[in-house]
Amino acid sequence: KLPNIPIFQAIKDHDPNSLAVIHSLSRRSFTYGNLIGDVLRAREDLRRKAGPNLAGERIGFLAENSYDYVVTMLSIFASNAIALPLSPAFPTSELQYIMDNSSAKVLLATEKYAEKADQVLVSGLAREPVFDIRSKLTTGADPSESAQLELEPESESDKLDPTVSGMMLYTSGTTNRPKGVLIPESALAAQARSLLQAWEYTPQDRLLHLLPLHHIHGVVNAIITPVFAGSSIEFMYPFNTDAVWKRLAEPFLQPSSSNTPTASKITFLTAVPTVYNRLMTSYPTQPPSIQKAGQEAISPTNLRLNISGSAALPTPTKSKWTELSKGNVLLERFGMTEVGMALSCGLSKNDRVDGSVGWALPGVEARLVDTETNEVIPDGVEVDDCGRPVVGEIQLRGETVFHSYWGNESATRESFVDDDGQGKPWFKTGDVASRRLVDGAGKGESGEWAKGPMYFISGRKSVDIIKSGGEKISALEVERELLSLPQITEAAVVGLAHEQWGQKIAAVVVLHPDAASSGRNGKTWGPMDMRRALKDRLAGYKIPQEMRVLESIPRNAMGKVNKKALIKEVFG
Ligand code: ATP
Ligand code: MG
Repeated sequence: KLPNIPIFQAIKDHDPNSLAVIHSLSRRSFTYGNLIGDVLRAREDLRRKAGPNLAGERIGFLAENSYDYVVTMLSIFASNAIALPLSPAFPTSELQYIMDNSSAKVLLATEKYAEKADQVLVSGLAREPVFDIRSKLTTGADPSESAQLELEPESESDKLDPTVSGMMLYTSGTTNRPKGVLIPESALAAQARSLLQAWEYTPQDRLLHLLPLHHIHGVVNAIITPVFAGSSIEFMYPFNTDAVWKRLAEPFLQPSSSNTPTASKITFLTAVPTVYNRLMTSYPTQPPSIQKAGQEAISPTNLRLNISGSAALPTPTKSKWTELSKGNVLLERFGMTEVGMALSCGLSKNDRVDGSVGWALPGVEARLVDTETNEVIPDGVEVDDCGRPVVGEIQLRGETVFHSYWGNESATRESFVDDDGQGKPWFKTGDVASRRLVDGAGKGESGEWAKGPMYFISGRKSVDIIKSGGEKISALEVERELLSLPQITEAAVVGLAHEQWGQKIAAVVVLHPDAASSGRNGKTWGPMDMRRALKDRLAGYKIPQEMRVLESIPRNAMGKVNKKALIKEVFG
């Protein structure tokens, strides 16, 4: 029997013969019935090796993007324990930091990463894990085997302690050393319910999974929520742009064995902006051979939904994708490890406004707070006396919010504020935004939650709000304008200390190959050209005073830029 928690309640209602997981490249597929059987087996195995009572234990696991990953994660939930997915791409020292920091006692690994797990455990751990498991995961369903899911009787005591079961995910480490975020099972369920309502996942959906599996985007949006819905998850691993295009062009995936149900086309894609850019850069000019006469041109046209998030979506990326897909508009959303998805544009195309991340998702309460006075910005206040957008820190609350930063009570305490007498603290995201009504959007076409003024992200309070000569400038806004210039393919805008103005604005850019001769008199496009090009687009005080050119801008696995490190690297 499995714990009576929402994710297993949901799986119990799915057709056991419907596909849960597909390995896109090898074309192996597994049904929800297979999944239940393997979760039960994996839990038995885990209990035998690590002990019968694992409630509240952090269980680290190293697995490739695969069925094994899904089975392992669910078997940890089934043990009332805390699933701690680790990135196989991390160096040993980083994995040791996470194992130490989370005081995880168990480390599981697939065959492929068994050696890596050995290295993590053998050397350097400050604390020895009590259960020294470098266990091979026991999965590998027999396609004819389908188990029935039975639920334990509901026990109130399990529900009371939010620290017992759920996930521990580390933040992307963009601004600092990654923080361990404890996300109770109840918050994961609330996050999934919110997304089910907003994005309407169905059992007919087939999601193409291209993301790392140690961050909220790949885990909650692309595994947990589809599992709640009974959708199919197709892992494309390793990520390969040609294979993605080929797959998107394929109307049907032939099942590898005759007793697996007929597969279908990809309907759902969620990724970070850099992945969409990489896909478009390698868009095949020659249609792949799989395409037969009369079929649709290779394109993401078939997708029901394509979503972007984790970093700001540049408008040129969005419009190029729309063009390529003949009208498929990317839906942008805002989320973070601590809260899951918080703000999102809507399913109706009118509700996917350029540069906006939409509205607070169902079940999420959002407000803006002045970063200097700590006063709440009242609804309806959009611009100041000079007509400039009023910005404030995004603060959030609801069932979706995390429990705590692991082992860091002071950081947890400092990140919440309880100031409105409701006894429900707000989480301070550290991200700054403005709000404004947009013509034609927010009329409720995407649901009751998607109404009224929309949120526009200005960036992180710590690095993206540049204070220069008494003005506050959003680095993201300047980046957006830089990226819309044909000469620039990547941009990061930073503030540098300046005696007179406090800070001055500098742009770090990657130039388009054609920019080598597109400057004045056939010279390389330079800072003067940049300033001239931005003149009609930005107020003078927002135009970068400096520009440095790099071959590429360093980004982490989620396509984000560590700006403090970038400043050090480029400006010394
Ligand atoms: P760390 O907290 O370790 O510095 P991180 O904040 O990048 O890393 P995540 O929790 O993975 O770790 O990312 C959340 C952050 O990503 C948000 O706080 C926000 O700054 C950024 N983000 C997410 N979605 C968007 C978006 N659509 N537009 C702009 N920024 C976004
Ligand atoms: Mg963060």
